[in-house]
Amino acid sequence: MNDIAAEYMQLALLEGRKALPACLPNPPVGCVLVLENSGVIARGFTQPPGQHHAEAMALSQVSGDLSKVIAFVTLEPCSFHGRTPSCAKELVARGIKRVYVATLDPDPRNSGAGIQILKAGGVDVSVGLLEEQAFKDLGPYLAKIANPAVQGTLCDKVAQRP
Ligand SMILES: [Zn+2]
Repeated sequence: MNDIAAEYMQLALLEGRKALPACLPNPPVGCVLVLENSGVIARGFTQPPGQHHAEAMALSQVSGDLSKVIAFVTLEPCSFHGRTPSCAKELVARGIKRVYVATLDPDPRNSGAGIQILKAGGVDVSVGLLEEQAFKDLGPYLAKIANPAVQGTLCDKVAQRP
């Protein structure tokens, strides 16, 4: 699955690039929803502030049983209710069972909390797929909101990758 998973994450990265500049100051996140054995069924990217995040935009295009749907998201889904509801909670509520995340969100309000919500909701989560590329796309936008110490950790982690 990993080669195919990387292809889908690549599509999610392409979605994310469509978000700029309207999404600012939020990071340009991309998401694709994939139905097992069938391919991409929905795509999303960060909408202007107060509107859908990438995951919510993609989820708005599908209905019914999503237990065979895999979500590919370029950034850790948000755990907190800000201007919009938490995407991590929404993914769980909609019955998604598997999520690939390219890179963690260094925003101190998130920073692993989104992953915890998914796992607590019974979702199988993989973090780090195409992380280097995701960080290239998102890094400049994450830096503005990140705690400098946390940001350093993330940079170090990416730099240490073989
Ligand atoms: Zn969100």
